[in-house]
Amino acid sequence: MQMKRRSIFAALLLTALPAVAQQKVKSVRLYVFDCGRLKSGNPAPLLERGVTTTDMSVEAFLIVHPRGTLLWDAGVIPDELVKPEGTVEARATVHTTLKGQLAAIGYKPADITYLALSHNHYDHSANGNAFAGSTWLVQRPERAFMFPDTPPATPINRSERWSDLKNSKTMILDGDYDVFGDGSVVIISTPGHTPGHQSLLVNLKKTGPVVLSGDLYHYPAERELKDFTPLANLGDPAQEAVSKAKVEALLKEKHAKLWIQHDIIADAKLRKSPAYYE
Ligand SMILES: [Zn+2]
Repeated sequence: MQMKRRSIFAALLLTALPAVAQQKVKSVRLYVFDCGRLKSGNPAPLLERGVTTTDMSVEAFLIVHPRGTLLWDAGVIPDELVKPEGTVEARATVHTTLKGQLAAIGYKPADITYLALSHNHYDHSANGNAFAGSTWLVQRPERAFMFPDTPPATPINRSERWSDLKNSKTMILDGDYDVFGDGSVVIISTPGHTPGHQSLLVNLKKTGPVVLSGDLYHYPAERELKDFTPLANLGDPAQEAVSKAKVEALLKEKHAKLWIQHDIIADAKLRKSPAYYE
């Protein structure tokens, strides 16, 4: 009997601890989640320009702020399909669930205040529906593209994985947006790759300012070779060029680092959750 009571107490303590940790955050934390990897759909033009590692990382991030939490991007394969030994779907491979990584630091989807996707593409939005209870931060043209008045003849690739966002509490953005009102977490409007693509500036006390790229860039070589835009044809290349210039100016002004989310070489060096940047 006593053993049983002790184990119940231990279970209570275990579930209570993360909740306490959530409330005690005094400065902004940035957690990096491993959402798998993605093979390039068209490696030849990349190899031609000297990109020898064409595989891409898939990342999601949790930003924990004293006033709430923001999940940035939502993976490439929905958690329900991820098996412990790994799941392969088309060009993607995933070994760990997003919800499992959140749970390991004491969060469940219902705890997440805000969801922001860098853009709607399937490799950033696979678990979108799981966060339909959060407030969705989306640029006006992106939402209009995702939920047009007249449904497109060919549905957007894997749109059923984020279709529940249509009824989410939604904050429609028309440009940059300071999420918590103190300049620490700012959505940067970077259209081009998609109509309402966005990037994220996170000002961290110890690490310094970091910009999460979304798909503004896929490979570091795109920053060095200005004419190298292997995936610009997916969207509006002229608009994308303007967005790149905007972010490059921001990086310079803030002395910020750019984290290219698909850069698998840089990704390997990032501390993954439960460790965090602050
Ligand atoms: Zn992508």
